[in-house]
Amino acid sequence: MIEHDVIIVGGGLAGTRAAVEIARTDPRLSIAVVAKTHPIRSHSVAAQGGMAATLKNVDDQDTWKAHAFDTVKGSDYLADQDAVEILTREAPDVVIDLEHMGVLFSRLPDGRIAQRAFGGHSHKRTCYAADKTGHAILHELVANLRRYGVHIYDEWYVLRLILEEDQVKGVVMYHLLDGRLEVVRAKAVMFATGGYGRVYNTTSNDFASTGDGLAMTALAGLPLEDMEFVQFHPTGLYPVGVLISEAVRGEGAYLINAEGDRFMSNYAPSKMELAPRDITSRAITKEIRAGRGAHQDGSAGGPFVYLDLRHMGREKIMSRVPFCWEEAHRLVGIDAVHQPIPIRPTVHYSMGGIPVNTDGRVRSGADGLVEGFFAAGEAACVSVHGANRLGSNSLLECVVYGKRTGAAIAQYVQSRKLPEIDEQRYLTQAEQQVQTLIDQPGEYRIDQIRQAFQDCMTDHCGVFRTESVMKEGLEKLQAIRQQAQRIYLDDKAKLWNTELTEALELQNLLIVGEIILTGALNRQESRGAHCREDFADRDDTNFLKHTMAYYSSAGIQIGDRPVAITMFEPQERKY
Ligand SMILES: Cc1cc2nc3c(=O)[nH]c(=O)nc-3n(C[C@H](O)[C@H](O)[C@H](O)COP(=O)(O)OP(=O)(O)OC[C@H]3O[C@@H](n4cnc5c(N)ncnc54)[C@H](O)[C@@H]3O)c2cc1C
Repeated sequence: MIEHDVIIVGGGLAGTRAAVEIARTDPRLSIAVVAKTHPIRSHSVAAQGGMAATLKNVDDQDTWKAHAFDTVKGSDYLADQDAVEILTREAPDVVIDLEHMGVLFSRLPDGRIAQRAFGGHSHKRTCYAADKTGHAILHELVANLRRYGVHIYDEWYVLRLILEEDQVKGVVMYHLLDGRLEVVRAKAVMFATGGYGRVYNTTSNDFASTGDGLAMTALAGLPLEDMEFVQFHPTGLYPVGVLISEAVRGEGAYLINAEGDRFMSNYAPSKMELAPRDITSRAITKEIRAGRGAHQDGSAGGPFVYLDLRHMGREKIMSRVPFCWEEAHRLVGIDAVHQPIPIRPTVHYSMGGIPVNTDGRVRSGADGLVEGFFAAGEAACVSVHGANRLGSNSLLECVVYGKRTGAAIAQYVQSRKLPEIDEQRYLTQAEQQVQTLIDQPGEYRIDQIRQAFQDCMTDHCGVFRTESVMKEGLEKLQAIRQQAQRIYLDDKAKLWNTELTEALELQNLLIVGEIILTGALNRQESRGAHCREDFADRDDTNFLKHTMAYYSSAGIQIGDRPVAITMFEPQERKY
């Protein structure tokens, strides 16, 4: 059995930042990071636009409290305000700390870190490295893992969380290279497994964003929080769905419909293109529904609108958002200096996740914490984003809460012994799970089932939701789950069996999808990214609370948890 003081699942920004903090706090600890990709291929590397912090380099009127207010208003008042206070107060220090580690942020002419405008933020406070911010930060953090001697298990797939007697004791993992199974025991386990964009058929997320950590947590009998809040990013490149960063609008790009109108004047006149993402995605969807979307030949009635950069000029486009220009050029043949880019909303971010307190400790329910278990980053829900996340607050969350969680773990493990685990029992169960998938005769290909599932979620739990459509979706999902038990694999070997990985991921996607749909059906109001056509208003009397969803094979139970309101009383949300 492998042993470490701490095992962190996930090599993105949250996992690596936590590992660095643990090593800095107590260099004697044995720390390991496991990732099913190489750590620098985690989705964090694709983050483009930047990371918010009130450095006041461009706007000296900015304050952490203004950042906190924007975040809480953006969240449609569902964020926990104690967690938001920590996020926004600690932001400047974590950015400076990253700079000291060597992150190459873009600069102002006087050498200070540059900051740009972003949707829903009242001041220019987003720090960036051109439109490759995640790349710049993750590479430094991974270099630091090596510097601090953190053990890296790359291309190992974690299959199971070991939870016994209300204590997390370790994980079971599978080596993608050769199929070897291992049980790892640790004094603390941390999940930083990222999001679940692949639940939907059009997403900005990478292929690895399959919600594994969420599904493993749910299967262990622990709750997931606020899973109905799925962020649709307004500007997914049509038709592929990859992201054209909000930084492009932050730098001045327009949204126009097939008639050439800047339609945001009808939806958010004071913020226009820099309204928060939920509002902007709904505006685009309404334009398309009303027949003002465009077709490829430019005629009206089509499935996308345009992001227009032409007035920005070549020099600004190439210096501030060169990667977005390149994406449009390479993937759909558009030269954004001269042509508008076709876009429509794409699934982007998970506001909900594994419920944690502000030290990253996982909650066992409305009260109570799980021993030995921590989480941070997109997989977690400390609830700084509530019902809708503001752009450039996620990288910030990963770094602030990655760091805090790391510090908390370094303390926590001091008083803990390595837990006892019946290694053989877990190995046998995992071996059976894998072998059953490989051996079963089956009648469906993985891709067939995954596509049917992703289409079902997209059609039945998208930007706009209604009870009848969601109920129908849940019924379809039950049928798809039955079929998913009858998939077959062509590849029967253990060496680099990518089909096997996809089969395991599919099981996780199905669990996460069912929790999203059930939470969405239960929340009979419209708040942030969750927009019910049959309950058009926010309902603070009945729904100003977090959803806690408990999964079991018998069905999903919905409970709740109160929202921490410490600074700003809920108001009507207008832009
Ligand atoms: C295209 C794009 C652009 C973005 N731009 C911005 C931006 O400009 N600003 C901003 O604030 N946010 C942005 N975001 C959001 C932000 O990048 C993410 O929320 C954040 O990086 C998530 O980091 P993470 O560490 O939580 O997880 P990730 O970076 O997703 O890493 C997850 C890790 O978990 C591992 N893992 C998962 N499952 C398993 C398993 N079963 N076994 C082993 N390992 C596993 C993966 O291998 C990976 O290492 C963007 C997101 C996208 C998709």
